[in-house]
Amino acid sequence: MTRPDVRVSTFAGPGANPVIQTVPWPAVPERAALLKIGACGVCGTDQHILKGHWPKPLPWPFTLGHEIGAVIVEKGAGFTEDFMGKPLAIGCKVMIPPLMPCGHCYYCVHYPETANKCLSPVYYGRYLGFDKAPHLWGGWAEYVYVDLDMLPGTKVYKLPDDMSLRLGALSEPLTSCIRAFNRAKKAGGFNWGDTVVIQGSGPIGILAIAAAREMGAQRVICVGAPERPRLELARRFGAEATVNIDEVRTAEERIGRVREIVGGFGADLVMDCSGHPSAGPEGIEMLRDGGTYVEMGQFTDAGKIETSWHRICAKDLNVLGSWAFTGNDLPLGVQMLYRTRDKYPYFDMQTLYPFTQEGLSQAVSDAMAMKTVKSTIVPFPELV
Ligand SMILES: [Zn+2]
Ligand SMILES: [Zn+2]
Repeated sequence: MTRPDVRVSTFAGPGANPVIQTVPWPAVPERAALLKIGACGVCGTDQHILKGHWPKPLPWPFTLGHEIGAVIVEKGAGFTEDFMGKPLAIGCKVMIPPLMPCGHCYYCVHYPETANKCLSPVYYGRYLGFDKAPHLWGGWAEYVYVDLDMLPGTKVYKLPDDMSLRLGALSEPLTSCIRAFNRAKKAGGFNWGDTVVIQGSGPIGILAIAAAREMGAQRVICVGAPERPRLELARRFGAEATVNIDEVRTAEERIGRVREIVGGFGADLVMDCSGHPSAGPEGIEMLRDGGTYVEMGQFTDAGKIETSWHRICAKDLNVLGSWAFTGNDLPLGVQMLYRTRDKYPYFDMQTLYPFTQEGLSQAVSDAMAMKTVKSTIVPFPELV
């Protein structure tokens, strides 16, 4: 049987345009599989990488894209179950996250709750260069290749059979939000009935609204822009009020507006999902004293900002960072998406683009211009 060649995109460096390359259909050994991609999101991180904000060297050229919903089209006999022990067969829907802890390093062994800081992770869509055969290491492609022998940290997660791959492609960003709230819960800084402010109305901000509600927040307020499509969608996801930073232009005014909406002494928890360094000093002033600030928006290094740490001390705050998630967090995102698939307008977050050079460029530039909430590449429309 002759197999078609596989199309895969690469970027040569920050600012470069995507190039679509063609590679031969790979051989699939005993403990490997080939996944046909139904949908792959454009992440804020992808945009920051393309702007040169990633703080470490990257293996350019490589294939971006790590929010993958896919289906197994070929697998070896020894590729039998997902990371949670669920049996896998050809035709199963799966997702693979970007960061896969190795399971053996000092962090993985001794600090499993912080295995997201694994010292030697497998990193699809980022740290696997195109040069490495069989060249299919990222989600902005027709297929992605996984191999448990070549990359033993590799983790594949089965999606429910009747779950749309479009929905599956949201499990990675949603899991980041769930993990960030769990981080606050474990620190005693997030309780049932809390009032939560989300800074940022991009995909992470929107999904954080849903996560906050599902995890016990009583009230959620979102600060962001633009009204369309983002703040409008934030309210449909359950934000009781939104503050438009295009209209409320200064930090003082925004703090005042949020405190007015929240009432009392301020919010119990503020989470930064904005990616803008000014969010921190502004956000802590929206908190009541003794409240919790969760920083998950500065995933890449977007720069420094002047701030007074006196305010953290004087307000008696919890300040927590949350970076990605561990291998055990991912099922929480899949389960929440599946359970709440009719409760939140998840599909309305996504704008779909074809897998072509133009489609990719447009998906990225529309995301950067905030014209979309979640630009999503769809190589095979019949799969989603
Ligand atoms: Zn992402
Ligand atoms: Zn490790």
